[in-house]
Amino acid sequence: LTGRMMDFPLTLTHFLERARTFHGRSEIVSRRPDRSLHRYTYADFYRRTCQLAQALRRLGVKPGDRVASLCWNHHQHLELYFAVPTMGAVLHTLNLRLHPNDLGYIARHAEDRILVVDRSLLPLFEKFEGSVRSIERVIVIPDDGPAPSNRLDYEQLLAAEPDSFDFPALEERSAAMLCYTSGTTGNPKGVLYSHRSIVLHTLACCLPDVLGVNEHDAVLPVVPMFHAAAWGLPFDAVATGAKLVMPGPHLDPTSLLDLMAQEKVTIAGGVPTIWLGILAMLDQEPKRWDLRSIRSMAIGGSAAPPAMIDGFQKRHGLTVTHAWGMTEMNPVGTLAKLKKNHADADDATKLAVRSSQGYPLPFVEQRHVSDSGELLPWDGSTMGELEVRGPWVASSYYGDEGKDRFTSDGWFKTGDVVTIDRDGYLRITDRSKDVIKSGGEWISSVALENALMAHPAVLEAAVFAGRHPRWDERPLAAVVFKPGQSATREELSAHLEKHFAKYWLPDAYLFVPQIPRTSTGKFLKTKLREEFGDYLLK
Ligand code: ADP
Repeated sequence: LTGRMMDFPLTLTHFLERARTFHGRSEIVSRRPDRSLHRYTYADFYRRTCQLAQALRRLGVKPGDRVASLCWNHHQHLELYFAVPTMGAVLHTLNLRLHPNDLGYIARHAEDRILVVDRSLLPLFEKFEGSVRSIERVIVIPDDGPAPSNRLDYEQLLAAEPDSFDFPALEERSAAMLCYTSGTTGNPKGVLYSHRSIVLHTLACCLPDVLGVNEHDAVLPVVPMFHAAAWGLPFDAVATGAKLVMPGPHLDPTSLLDLMAQEKVTIAGGVPTIWLGILAMLDQEPKRWDLRSIRSMAIGGSAAPPAMIDGFQKRHGLTVTHAWGMTEMNPVGTLAKLKKNHADADDATKLAVRSSQGYPLPFVEQRHVSDSGELLPWDGSTMGELEVRGPWVASSYYGDEGKDRFTSDGWFKTGDVVTIDRDGYLRITDRSKDVIKSGGEWISSVALENALMAHPAVLEAAVFAGRHPRWDERPLAAVVFKPGQSATREELSAHLEKHFAKYWLPDAYLFVPQIPRTSTGKFLKTKLREEFGDYLLK
């Protein structure tokens, strides 16, 4: 028997119309390159989004066409986030931290027809422009000065258009956004989000047990809009009418803290590197900023060290919410919140729960499997590869028929090695390519890193596999000290001995000025392995 309810499509057009109708007075604030703030309302945003859709249609953009953006987080990027999908086309966000060769590869692969670029990023685009024949038009957002005369000017284009648009009726399964993985462990791959996947992901993220974004919030996406849709935070804000605060290109701790205090930010989201910098700044000047408005700082993208979560809470009364996700998942999959049965737990237990990667959002399902594909027990200690499924998990890659990341029974293989405890909380112990196999035993690099980063002298630490004549691989630790501080190898080893079996302890500590990073701020372990992988053979 079929239910008799309407088949109403889940599209971004609804969020856009809602923002205009019910939240027209909510604000969107963006930091410009010259540090001044641009402010306007959702009513202005709606009108300009219509103008942008008109302009793109006039330029010949058709349903399904890819329109690329090469932009920082700001209001014009938000206009692209909505105008492109709601007119039926696909927004392809290019990651400005990638090498120009990779950007060229990705833009060719996506067959982008139009590219919208911040003037401040035009020199970057010009480095790969010649390699991408599909791009017919380049529109320049005049962020740090006027657009050059040989390019279209974003503001002039919009100014010439009417401020309403007859939004087409769309199928909820039609493509809305194209995001490429940053290629930390291989070639970048395209993930094609649909209206439906974004809408369902947004609704789930706004639940109180997830991020709980609501109309009273002021949301600061520090995570770039060119990386996994800024974790969906811009969509959460537009869907609920929350105030949006965009940092533009200024991602240093002082600029972000100024913005949080001035604009009374309630939720901010960013990768651990960003928060490590902010914590160090707050430790130096604990009284400089009034951050009482903040209710949650979401951290994900790589593991948030427990010492950081604890430091924010104990020294500054700030709550960190740890989440796990992937470009392939729109991107949020799990989030670590305490449950009511943790109310009476001691501080150490609560910290252990809050620094896990959490349990899945509604409609995300998880399991972990052994090398031979057997399902593993949720006992909190057995490690295996995490597999997920759900309405915002990729079912294949764009323009790639490869099946190796998808199981025959409909699950996506994440490439993350995890344990799951009996309450369903997930702990990432490694990425499968980073796991250290010593004499057949798996050693978790993430667990060792977290423990090292809890040492008072250590700013950052990355643990990776070094080749070993007898054990195949042994852990090596690259360590960066806090300014003016240091520790000996023996001290670091003694510090770790308290937490780990002897065979887990790194064979060597390499004191380095910085840890190499990927375009999205993750430790680049392939680089560490290239440079130091043979350290123990010498
Ligand atoms: P890339 O695969 O190029 O790094 P993504 O940004 O999609 O691009 O990265 C997803 C991966 O980031 C996950 O598979 C996982 O390894 C890692 N990750 C994301 N969030 C966390 C987290 N909270 N803790 C540990 N690892 C995380």
